[in-house]
This record gives sequence, C-alpha cells and structure tokens, in this order.
Amino acid sequence: MQESLVKLTDVTFNYGSSSVLEDITLTVRPGEFWALIGPNGSGKSTLIKILLGLLKPDKGTVELFGQPVSHVSHKERVGYVSQKSNSFNSGFPATVLEVVRSGLTKKKGLFKRFTKADTEAAMNALREVDMESFADRNIGELSGGQQQRVFISRALAAKPELLIMDEPTVGVDQQNSASFYSMLEKLNRDNGIAILLVSHEIDLVTDLASHVACLNRTMHFHGGRRDFAKLNDNDLSRWYGHSVRLIHQKEGGTSND
Ligand code: ADP
Repeated sequence: MQESLVKLTDVTFNYGSSSVLEDITLTVRPGEFWALIGPNGSGKSTLIKILLGLLKPDKGTVELFGQPVSHVSHKERVGYVSQKSNSFNSGFPATVLEVVRSGLTKKKGLFKRFTKADTEAAMNALREVDMESFADRNIGELSGGQQQRVFISRALAAKPELLIMDEPTVGVDQQNSASFYSMLEKLNRDNGIAILLVSHEIDLVTDLASHVACLNRTMHFHGGRRDFAKLNDNDLSRWYGHSVRLIHQKEGGTSND
C-alpha cells in the first residue's frame, strides 16, 4: 500500500468544554481527491487546522507523509488555500506573477532573490490554472474567482503533493465556481496531485471527488464516491440536520477502494 499523505487516527478536539471533533479517522493517499462536507459549525475548518499542525488534538494522532505532523519539515509538500485568500482590493500593489512567485518563499526563505527558474515555475503554475495571460495584471483588478485561481497557482508553484482548500469558492458565483471545480478535477487527473477540498456545495464537489468525508462533530461517512452515492437523502439529511437532496450527475467513481 502507498504511503499516506494524511493520516488522522481517533482525533478528538474540544474548544474548552465544547466538543468539536470526536474520534475522527481519515486517510488521504496519493492521487485521491477528497471532498470534506458538513453543515456550518460541523468542525471542518478545525479539522484542517489540526492536519496543518496549527491546532493540537486532545486525543489521537496526526501524520503527514508518514511522520507526526509536528516533525514534518517539508512544508512545501502541502499547498493550502483558505477561503479568505481571494480578498485583495484593487489598490493592492502586486502583480499576479509576484503573488504566484511568493509561493516559492517556503522553499527559499523570505529574503532570497527570485531567479529566472522561479519565474518560469510561476508561469508554469499560472498556465496550469489557465491564468497565464494575467501574469502582469494587478492582483486587485481580478474577480474573486480569478484571484482564487491565482492562489491555487501560488500553491502549485512549490510543486506540492497535496492541495488543501477550505471553501475556496466563497463569494464566487455558481457558474464560476463550477468552472473552478472542473479546473481542480483536471489538476488532480492530469498532474496526479491529491486534493482535500472543504466545501458546502455538496452536489458539485461530490460529483468531482473520488472520495467523500461527511463530518458533523463525528465522521458520519468516509469512503469512495460510489459508496457515498448509495447513501439516501434521508440518511444524509439526518446527519446534516436539515433536508438534503442530492442530484448525482455522474455515476460512481474511478478510485473507489
Ligand atoms: P466549520 O468549518 O464546519 O464551519 P468550525 O471548525 O469553524 O466549523 O467550527 C466548529 C465549532 O467550533 C463551531 O461550533 C465553532 O463555533 C467552534 N469554534 C471555532 N473556532 C473556535 C474558537 N477559536 N474558539 C471557540 N470555539 C470555536
């Protein structure tokens, strides 16, 4: 079996006396595309912070690339894009290329000079998200959806093995968020990059992902998309806390192991 990229085992986390996550187990392997879904306040962002090593669980273990998260030195192996990334206003003094190139500072340190190879890596990363022609534009002139593509590209410039995104389409309209998700699917399929995507857009993301994790303090379900598709709407609604009706546009999945 391949090395796991992320391995959470029996993770429990409380904010003070309030129980937020209980006995969460989740493994992400190379090349998998996970959708992490759940209602507001179900613990999704907390789980992401735990697996990035920003919060320490009260119980359980967290491994990245087979090592305890606190020991992981190659932080560039993980790219992270938060929901707040796409909020530069029009006056922000940086071009798209500069923003993407700044993604290489994890490898080089903050005060190193960028080389021609760095610029090439940044341009390649922009090409992967179809934003090459925006390289010299000011980041603040772009729409929320375009800015979010730039931030994915910034994460890609460092050639991560795993891309983690927390609600990347907040504030992006439905049509643009659908094309954003197709771009992620292509990245996963063509580049083999593993993805862990937190989203409230259940229909959209569960049709794209190879695996689905349903969280609401406890893990209601985690597994391949084909098994997720067998859950009925009543079961999902009970877990979600309100009525959920899923329209499965595509049947099954490719990597349902
Ligand atoms: P989600 O991302 O699914 O919306 P969160 O992980 O942000 O959920 O929050 C899970 C629960 O933890 C919520 O009830 C939220 O109010 C609470 N919470 C989040 N951050 C904090 C914090 N810093 N201090 C106390 N409670 C928090």
